[in-house]
Amino acid sequence: MIYLTVPILVESSEQAVADISRAAELGAEMVELRIDYLCRYDGDVVRAVVGAAKKLGLAVLATCRANWEGGKFGQGEKSRAMMFKAAVRAGADYIDIELACRAEGEIKAAELAAEGDVRVILSSHDFEKRPADLAQRVAVMVERGADVAKVAYKAERICDCFDAIDIYRSESQAGRQAIALAMGEAGVMTRQLAKKLGGKLTFAALGEGLGSAAGQVTIEQMRSLYRWDAMGADTQVFGVIGDPVGHSLSPALHNAAFDATGYNGIYLPLLVEGTWEEFRNFMDGTRQRPWLGLRGLSVTIPHKENALRYVRENGGQLEPLAEKIGSVNTLLIDEAGKVSGFNTDYAGALGAVLDGAGLVKSDLKGMSAAIIGAGGVARALAAGLCDAGAEVTIYNRTVERAEKLAEDFGCKWAGVEGLANLEAKLIVNCTSLGMHPAVEGCAVPEGVLTKDMIVFDTVYNPVETRLLKLARSVGATVVDGVSMFVRQGAAQFEMFTGRPAPLEVMREIFDSRQ
Ligand code: NAP
Repeated sequence: MIYLTVPILVESSEQAVADISRAAELGAEMVELRIDYLCRYDGDVVRAVVGAAKKLGLAVLATCRANWEGGKFGQGEKSRAMMFKAAVRAGADYIDIELACRAEGEIKAAELAAEGDVRVILSSHDFEKRPADLAQRVAVMVERGADVAKVAYKAERICDCFDAIDIYRSESQAGRQAIALAMGEAGVMTRQLAKKLGGKLTFAALGEGLGSAAGQVTIEQMRSLYRWDAMGADTQVFGVIGDPVGHSLSPALHNAAFDATGYNGIYLPLLVEGTWEEFRNFMDGTRQRPWLGLRGLSVTIPHKENALRYVRENGGQLEPLAEKIGSVNTLLIDEAGKVSGFNTDYAGALGAVLDGAGLVKSDLKGMSAAIIGAGGVARALAAGLCDAGAEVTIYNRTVERAEKLAEDFGCKWAGVEGLANLEAKLIVNCTSLGMHPAVEGCAVPEGVLTKDMIVFDTVYNPVETRLLKLARSVGATVVDGVSMFVRQGAAQFEMFTGRPAPLEVMREIFDSRQ
């Protein structure tokens, strides 16, 4: 059994019993009763809260963390030993004792274990950094007879997670279940993957802001977003790699699609700092650990060019259009660790235009198209539309960029003043004009849109931009940025899983978040 565990900060009997019952309702399998939050010995409350949890069928981990290890209990080791004893006698299944407390002399794990049917977790915490000797600490815990070894440390960067991941691996290979957690946003994957990696438990907060350590996601997110119930050792891992990634809708989109299609996968936000070195270290680290099961990545700002470089330098297959666009937004990693790179932005954009306007790809041949903007998205659009045979003109504020992009793809270019005489059939906004919070922005001047035009705005926040409102008011065909976003994700899903993407489900996820 691998427990989804909710920490309960026990400050009073009433509050803790209410929290325990809420945790049970939300699907917790275990509660960690942080009885150190009582700050002083109180056997009655300990018995009441352990009893309440047992009555609800929850496994109980009792923790009375000393203040010298980041906890709240400062009344001395004799009182702390009595707190543990009360919890064990009341029926706690596990107790968590600090590895360092042996030196203090009062808390004797073997004596406490003899008080009831309880397993001992020996633990070690570092709230500041990743200690260099984590594996040795685990070895000492095992040698001292711990039923479960636990290490928790602060992750500065995502690559700090590899130590925890390796501990899960080595302990499970030895037939034991460990707890190895990297704290902070950079360490979240160690919490989300604990079940796949054969850990003893993972902690999830009762609600936003109610966690007992940095980086804990809520139990609701763990179950409904990160697919705890469906996860197993053979679950395939995917994610979005970028900086920042906290705001990304991709985890919701892909995990909902896994749910809808019954695919055994999990998709995580992976915060990889913006340098080439961090990107390379993360990719190398995951490929060196094939048992991690990382099979695919969506790549976002600022790593799309790093992804291209990585595939090139590692002899992987590169989709020719991704190479021409100069950015990779999708990486696939096969079982042998071979990595290949693709770009689904242009396919997503093209799919959005075709579906939105009721066209097929061959209809784009010879069609006049105006792309406004010359950044990354404009490049993807230029690649897709030129590839389909459209007659493309690039308009951009900085004309040198328009000229360069036009040269790369063999199309025409002009400055934005040229938009006053716009005559194209297809108009695509690839600038940030109109995007939240400057929603009054509009990429084309008033009066140039006509009802024969197809107007596509890649901006998706808001969905209905000023440009689209204008287009609608003259009766033009409109295509919104969500269609592109969902389709580029759908194209990734199909590459990840080899299954058709549930487009409707993916669009609904987006709409429900607006
Ligand atoms: P980017 O590389 O930073 O390019 C931004 C472009 O916008 C440049 O051409 C820039 O012109 C132009 N621009 C910015 N502010 C302007 C202003 N005030 N007036 C005129 N032009 C201005 O960005 P990107 O990655 O291509 O993204 C562009 C937009 O695409 C984003 O804002 C986002 O809304 C949208 N997007 C949509 C999706 C989707 O799936 N639907 C995905 C990604 C992005 P200069 O060259 O003159 O600076």
